[in-house]
Amino acid sequence: MTVSTDMKKGLSCTQAKSMYQNIRNTTQLFGILLAAMLLGMGIYYFNILYVIGALAAAVFAGRVFCGWICPNGAWMDHVVKRFSLHRKMPGFLVSRWFGYSFTVVFLGIFIYLRVFITDAPWVWTIPIGMMAVQMTLGTILGAIYYPRGFCAHVCPWGILGSLLGRRAAYQMTINLNCRSCGTCTTACSLGGILEPAISRVKENHKPETLSADCMRCMSCAGACPANAIQFGPVAPGHFAKKAKTSSEKPSAASTG
Ligand code: SF4
Ligand code: SF4
Repeated sequence: MTVSTDMKKGLSCTQAKSMYQNIRNTTQLFGILLAAMLLGMGIYYFNILYVIGALAAAVFAGRVFCGWICPNGAWMDHVVKRFSLHRKMPGFLVSRWFGYSFTVVFLGIFIYLRVFITDAPWVWTIPIGMMAVQMTLGTILGAIYYPRGFCAHVCPWGILGSLLGRRAAYQMTINLNCRSCGTCTTACSLGGILEPAISRVKENHKPETLSADCMRCMSCAGACPANAIQFGPVAPGHFAKKAKTSSEKPSAASTG
């Protein structure tokens, strides 16, 4: 089954968009309540459990956790969005190397604290501190630039999820129904990740998968008037074929 074509049958774009939004609001609320419950039970490493879940899900379906469960993401979507200046992020912040470097430093500090500081009375604050750092940075970048700017370019778990999800069996795809109208691009909270795939569909006359940075939130699928965006399994051998095609056609843009 491909989500979107099957779920959108008989629904207008506005209805489909609000259906996906309502489901997502519910799963994000579940993510927040579960986190609060685990914290209340004294399970201070609950965010490590979340990270393991997020990365395991990414192997099969990409960054679904970021779009549907992450409490930090929910904060950006529902709170930071209200006061964000909605501007483009500067080049150095969106560079891959900035994201990779931040990930290495963030994980390095966490591993160091976890391995070498084991008997300090404040050891239980480490995972909460990690979360606070992510939330603070996310809020600052979200306020100055756009709400999911941190998620798109800086969040270590998002970056790892994106790397692990590159060849996931379930992908977001734009099919040949696409009319290049650009409606989906305004619905996407990650900014600019749909355009390369839209261009490739037009250029290559075949369905194209979206960037691995996509959070599978379905906002674009709900907004698309041509029902051209779907989430579902890709054919076996899809990535091998894709790699072969791009090595034969060096001018074609990469999927990411
Ligand atoms: S909204 Fe649909 S038809 Fe328009 S560009 Fe996006 S995928 Fe193509
Ligand atoms: S490309 Fe679509 S599914 Fe992916 S993050 Fe953007 S709106 Fe959500």
